[in-house]
Amino acid sequence: MSTANPRADLDSNLGLNTLSIHAGEATDPSTNALNTPLYQTATFAFESAVAKEDAVDRALEWEPGVFFYSRTGNPTTYALEQKLAALEGAEDAAVGASGMAACATALMAVLDAGDHCIASEDLFVITRVLLDEALSSKGIEVTHVDVTDLDAVAAAVRPNTKALFIESLSNPHMDVADLPALAALAREHNLTYIVDNTFLSPSLLRPLEHGADLVVHSATKWLGGHGDAVAGVVAGRKELIDRVRFNMDAFGAAVSPFNSWLILRGMRTLGLRMKASSANALAVAEFLQSRPEVAMVSYPGLPTHPHHELAAKLLPDGFGGMMAIRLHGDAETMGKFAAALKLSAIAVSLGDVHTLVYPMPKRDNLIRLSIGCEDTDDLVADYAQALDAC
Ligand SMILES: *Cc1c(COP(=O)(O)O)cnc(C)c1O
Repeated sequence: MSTANPRADLDSNLGLNTLSIHAGEATDPSTNALNTPLYQTATFAFESAVAKEDAVDRALEWEPGVFFYSRTGNPTTYALEQKLAALEGAEDAAVGASGMAACATALMAVLDAGDHCIASEDLFVITRVLLDEALSSKGIEVTHVDVTDLDAVAAAVRPNTKALFIESLSNPHMDVADLPALAALAREHNLTYIVDNTFLSPSLLRPLEHGADLVVHSATKWLGGHGDAVAGVVAGRKELIDRVRFNMDAFGAAVSPFNSWLILRGMRTLGLRMKASSANALAVAEFLQSRPEVAMVSYPGLPTHPHHELAAKLLPDGFGGMMAIRLHGDAETMGKFAAALKLSAIAVSLGDVHTLVYPMPKRDNLIRLSIGCEDTDDLVADYAQALDAC
């Protein structure tokens, strides 16, 4: 089965909300369905035996818009890939089974045994497991540094360093990386510069515009936005994405078409959700900072955040929905506070329209908040009553 590149005629100067709705999707050619259908199929019939031989010869060689098996490519997933590429301003994008599939296939596209990778000190915990256990055991060396300290990053470069992996806004400490300065450093040392942009989404930051080579996301989070599907994406230059696709195919990291369909549906409101969550988060952060029970609020939108000036430059459209806080008191106080919240579920994950709270007793009682799209006054009132309760 073959389809033309959907919306190839779209003006790339369109705004983010317009692209979220229109990019990558076109009226279905066989039915005129306006929304991209869910192509819930493993395989696609060939027109002839010759066409089959031709395709099998090319197995593992992705050709845009040509589909023969859903591990290698699927039209619903392809629409999502085109939409994500448009939003990140990338030549191409590859969607996989999870954010970890995206991180793993991106890193393996640029690192071989004997190579060295520099990565942030503050990273999503499973990304650390991937680097420090899964990849290290295969002969890839990893050094973690504080990537807000450019001298420390430069000092970590070795002759065999091939990649720099950072998070645009770090988990869980909310450090803001100086993306353009790190890009200059990566260029100088010929490193492939990979940015995990999960915490911000292309609605607030497009790392490729600031010199990144690859951007990765857990699409499970803000991109999908409804906490109902696990998926991941890597976006960047076609030559790099071809290698990522090869890895996704060979390692079997394909996403289910249904999950692609759910993420595609969620993406159409990305800008609206990020705007609502950013406004809510700023209001909650300002409120929490005003309360004596709260010892620390780390939100890049607050002037008290150590990287606020840089954040204001990089994030003109809002500071996102993520923050970390710490209460006066012990783990028990933290537990009481989390349990008293009526509108925040205690849960892992983030980027949901539903506000989530994640207490971390093993990380010095830090509490990560992922602020959703509820009404601002309701959220602030809920945090007020929870502080009163503990
Ligand atoms: C959740 C997350 C991931 C992993 O994504 P999954 O979809 O859960 O596999 C990677 N990076 C960051 C920053 C995340 O928050």
